[in-house]
Amino acid sequence: MRETADAVIIGAGIMGCAIAHELAARGMTEVVVLERDTIGRGATADAAGGIRQQFSTETNIRLATHSVRVWESFAERFGLDIGLKQQGYLFLLTDPAQEPVFRANLSLQQQLGVPARWLTPEEIGEINPHVVLDDVLGGTFCPEDGWVDTYTATMGYAQAAKRLGVEFREETSAIGFRMQGGRVAAVETPTGCIWTNRAIVCAGPYSRRVGALAGAELPISPYRRMSFITEPFPTLPGTLPMTIEFSSGLYFHPESGGFLFGMGNPHEPSSFDKTVDDDWMVTNVEALVARAPAFAEANVMRGWAGFYEITPDDNPLLGWVPGVDGLGIAAGFSGHGFMQGPAIGACLSELILDGVATTVDITPFRPSRFAEGALAQEHNVI
Ligand SMILES: Cc1cc2nc3c(=O)[nH]c(=O)nc-3n(C[C@H](O)[C@H](O)[C@H](O)COP(=O)(O)OP(=O)(O)OC[C@H]3O[C@@H](n4cnc5c(N)ncnc54)[C@H](O)[C@@H]3O)c2cc1C
Repeated sequence: MRETADAVIIGAGIMGCAIAHELAARGMTEVVVLERDTIGRGATADAAGGIRQQFSTETNIRLATHSVRVWESFAERFGLDIGLKQQGYLFLLTDPAQEPVFRANLSLQQQLGVPARWLTPEEIGEINPHVVLDDVLGGTFCPEDGWVDTYTATMGYAQAAKRLGVEFREETSAIGFRMQGGRVAAVETPTGCIWTNRAIVCAGPYSRRVGALAGAELPISPYRRMSFITEPFPTLPGTLPMTIEFSSGLYFHPESGGFLFGMGNPHEPSSFDKTVDDDWMVTNVEALVARAPAFAEANVMRGWAGFYEITPDDNPLLGWVPGVDGLGIAAGFSGHGFMQGPAIGACLSELILDGVATTVDITPFRPSRFAEGALAQEHNVI
């Protein structure tokens, strides 16, 4: 077990694992990843696995586009089948105010090479003939979007990082920091200190708590989100896209012979409550059946809850934390982080090794933007 490291990463979700791998692949192998639970069992395990390029900000589109190329070549690069299904993301728009916003986003996406397009209600019916279109004004569709198995993808990064020499310490929490002259000098664990001058917070919904241990205020709050899965359900084809009713956030996509679905409750306050709310499940099922009536015949097999890690502008904090030298962060992905893991791994490793991220310019998501009043609002949040 190392007592010193070139970098200590706190959290072994998709972010911690991808960053550790990219650092090691570029030669920084004296890296320790601390995980208070086991690898990949945080928010990453609770995600719906969706990957999309339909965002409203250039930074998110570029992060997503780079990541899609990695997801497409993952089996070749990492030797694991992550169950990539590129059946598209279909957004249904019901509010007239959404159309100009989505058309502007679409134009930006297309300029950046994303093959997304506008659909009339008739064209939507050709892609998903099972949704009620009475109130739908139009929508957007990107055939490269889809979903993958988040746990296998995370393990792929972790195993590859281990092969390159990265040390993962599971069931080992970061419980404090030692500082010298305002700079990180060590990360404390229940079994002792790991001396390092770089610590990277990748603790997902718990990142605010970890940052506070170093005296940093990181504006990341946990919000419960529930997902449900039906029993195998052959009435609807397994070839359907991820379908999203943008106004409510209701989504569903084929999964394991059934369908995975969910919808955020906009009135629920921030909390670390991980129980499944049966009342919300009923509300969610009613919304699902109203949009796709065939689901009236489906049985819900199980549900689970996890946490979105929401920031004031629905975008992550990426980079060095102001006021705490040596403390980096990649957290606060506000519910769309899993899909960006590959690009974040590349960008954070460049930031650490080269001083600047070049795969994608991540400066719009610098942690100092909140104090500067330079928020970077993402509009396409589900
Ligand atoms: C219901 C739901 C659906 C979602 N659907 C999608 C989707 O379709 N597509 C998508 O891209 N994203 C989705 N997300 C969001 C996605 O899950 C997250 O953005 C992403 O997984 C964040 O990864 P992470 O590595 O930052 O965090 P996590 O996976 O939470 O990893 C952080 C790790 O840090 C560990 N940790 C915390 N504190 C400490 C400590 N003190 N010491 C050591 N370790 C610590 C935790 O145990 C955890 O393993 C969804 C989220 C939820 C809840």
